[in-house]
Amino acid sequence: MRLYNSLSREKEEFIPRFEGKVSMYTCGPTVYHFAHIGNLRSYIMEDVLEKYLRYVGYDVTRVMNITDVGHLTSDADTGEDKMLKGAKREHKTVMEIAKFYTDAFFADCKKLNIKTPDVVEPATGCVPEFIDMIKTLLDKGYAYEAGGNIYFDTSKLDKYYVFNDFTEEDLDVGVRETVEADANKKNKADFVLWFTKSKFDDQELKWDSPFGLGYPGWHIECSCIARKHLGEYLDLHCGGIDNAFPHHTNEIAQSESTFGHEWCKYWFHVHHLNTLGGKMSKSKGEFLTVSLLEEKGFDPMVYRMFCLGSHYRKNLVFSWENLENAKTAYEKLVAKISSLKEDPEGAIDSEAFAQGREKFKSALDNDLNTSLAVTAIYDVLKLKTNDNTKLALIEDFDKVLGLDLIAHAKDYAVQNDTEPASEASDEFIAYINEKIQERAAAKRERNFALADAIRNELLEKGVTLVDKREGTEFIIN
Ligand SMILES: [Zn+2]
Repeated sequence: MRLYNSLSREKEEFIPRFEGKVSMYTCGPTVYHFAHIGNLRSYIMEDVLEKYLRYVGYDVTRVMNITDVGHLTSDADTGEDKMLKGAKREHKTVMEIAKFYTDAFFADCKKLNIKTPDVVEPATGCVPEFIDMIKTLLDKGYAYEAGGNIYFDTSKLDKYYVFNDFTEEDLDVGVRETVEADANKKNKADFVLWFTKSKFDDQELKWDSPFGLGYPGWHIECSCIARKHLGEYLDLHCGGIDNAFPHHTNEIAQSESTFGHEWCKYWFHVHHLNTLGGKMSKSKGEFLTVSLLEEKGFDPMVYRMFCLGSHYRKNLVFSWENLENAKTAYEKLVAKISSLKEDPEGAIDSEAFAQGREKFKSALDNDLNTSLAVTAIYDVLKLKTNDNTKLALIEDFDKVLGLDLIAHAKDYAVQNDTEPASEASDEFIAYINEKIQERAAAKRERNFALADAIRNELLEKGVTLVDKREGTEFIIN
């Protein structure tokens, strides 16, 4: 498979360190509020990537953290503590908030068919690991103490800005002018590994450490949680493009300084979901959650379909109208699939199956082109083969796409109780056509009583006649 790597800024052949195995790390949510659908876009695309890697035969181990401590409102370690802010807002403890929004996050994932990673680790469960890595960084001279906090010294690196799209100026993005610069930092890009002198006196969660009573910075948690479960080498690291800088840049700085070698080979970043007014965020405009979509009558699968319709490296514009279009497309697709009839005795046409699968794979092998992969389903519907083969292909693709197509098609068939016209026997259709001709003859003879009697006779048998300029058509109810 060829995958765009944000580090090299090129599409590269994906070759994991150990043949057949993939170690994959994903930055998890900060659990201080509901996830908005912009965040969930990243998790959907990462889910497709993980499922595709499994589909082509890799043994994937995927790890995700849950940020329940240390994440400030600006990713550059300034502003308020997000968890504390959430707790104050809802008059709860930080741990109550963490539990509630962790559960809410996984409930949303379930609705969107996002598989739970093999390992999910909350930051508060790994404090000894954080302390251990910070000690190593201090010993090796990559970290320093200032004003009670421990900082990473970015000037010790040959190259700190590893994702070339970002520079020092980007550190100011998202930082409000009212937030004071941290005077303890030796270099503007330095970041906190451990806080003891917090501006937040009411910080609830603090731990003893060799650096004093305090709590970890945000970035250190991903480096340590990845190391705990996946060792010193990662094949693939994922996240939203927002995380590339400073968060992922800092993760690389910490991990590679600790290990003394390259850490993660491929970086997969999902781009923004924008509203017509710009980047989606919790603070701006309507707070778009999965529950809100449901309240407005959208099945979460429609949102998944909407996301798959666009490449993960393009910004996607969300509007209710765009979502409505995705809904129409999804429902049409489901209706088409529901008209396929499985023949329990029938076989699968292996040639057509291989042909359909090839198209699907070539779409995803090319930097996870999900919109082409969805198109491959429409191609299956047009294949000159039996319905068993078509259904088998759709079921096979849906292992990766996760659109619940077969289940929805079955529900659709039940709801509409569809007995498609093609199901009527040839004999019955011949009978209807004969009656239509008799009725036409009666009309020509101006015997309207007979014409009406024929119409009623058919109606009783569940056949409605529709007179059109080109002739009479019929609908079997
Ligand atoms: Zn992370």
